[in-house]
Amino acid sequence: NLPKVEDPDIQLIKDNLSCIKNKILVLSGKGGVGKSTFSTLLSFLLSSDPELNIGLLDLDITGPSIPKMIGTMSDKSNATLHMTNNGLIPNYVQDNLATISIQYLLPSLDEAIIWKSAKKETMIKKFLKDTLWNDLDYLIIDTPPGTSDEHILINKLLNKTQSVTGAVLVTTPQEVSLNDVRKEINFCQKVGIRILGLVENMAGFVCGSCNKKTDIFKATTGGGEALCNEFNIPYWGKVPLDPRLGICCDQGESFIDLYPESEATLKLVEIVEKL
Ligand code: ADP
Repeated sequence: NLPKVEDPDIQLIKDNLSCIKNKILVLSGKGGVGKSTFSTLLSFLLSSDPELNIGLLDLDITGPSIPKMIGTMSDKSNATLHMTNNGLIPNYVQDNLATISIQYLLPSLDEAIIWKSAKKETMIKKFLKDTLWNDLDYLIIDTPPGTSDEHILINKLLNKTQSVTGAVLVTTPQEVSLNDVRKEINFCQKVGIRILGLVENMAGFVCGSCNKKTDIFKATTGGGEALCNEFNIPYWGKVPLDPRLGICCDQGESFIDLYPESEATLKLVEIVEKL
C-alpha cells in the first residue's frame, strides 16, 4: 500500500485563489442553454458596482465564447494574455473586470482546440495557479456543459480543497435540458458542491409588435421550479428569451447597460442579490 501523494498543484491553486472572496461555478447539463451568456451578464452586472472587483474565468477549453461575448475580441491586438515572471496577467474589460480564456492564446476565433484530457488539465491548472487576479470579490467560473473530465478535475482542484463557494445551474425550460440538468444536480450532490440556485434561461418570449408572451421552450412536467422542489434546491426564476441579448453577445456589448429596464436585466439584478 503506497501512501497517497498529494498533487502539489492543489496547494499552489489554493494559495493563488486565497485572495478571492467568492468563487462561483456556472454549470449546465446541456450546451447552448445560455451558461456563458449568464456568466457574462453576471460579471457585467457585478462589476457595475465600482467597489467590487470581478474575475471571469472561462474553463470551456474547447468552446471558449466568453472573450467574444464580453467584448475583448473586438481589438485583436489587445485580445491576449501576458506572462510575467510572477504569473499570468488577465485580460481587463474594465478596471474592475478581468477575464481569462484559452481564446486569448489562439491565433483566431476559428482555431479549433483538439486536445486530449491531459493537455486540457495542464491548461486548467495553469489558469488556476498562475493567474494574477489580485484581490477579487467574485470569481465567476464558466465551465463546459455536462459532467466531463473537466468537472471531475474542478471538483478535485477546487471543491475538495474548499476553494469554491457554490454553483449556479442554468437550464432552459425544455425537457431535454431539464433532464441533463438533473445529472448535473446529481453530480453536485455526489461530490458535495453546494448548489446556490437554478436559473431557467430563455423562458418565454414577448413579441415586440403585439406584446404577446409565448413559451418557445415549454416544459411539460412543471419545469425548473418543480425540479428545484424535487431536489430541494433554491429556484432563482426565469430569464426571458430576448433577441437583443443575442445581439449584445455577438457584438460584445453589455446588455445590462444598454437595456437596464428590460425584464432580463431586472431578473438578473434579483439573482445577484441572492449571491
Ligand atoms: P452555453 O454556454 O450554455 O453553451 P451560450 O451562452 O453560448 O450557451 O448561449 C447560446 C446562444 O443563445 C448564444 O447565441 C446566446 O447569445 C443566446 N442566448 C442565451 N441566452 C439568451 C436569452 N435569454 N435570450 C436570447 N438569446 C440568448
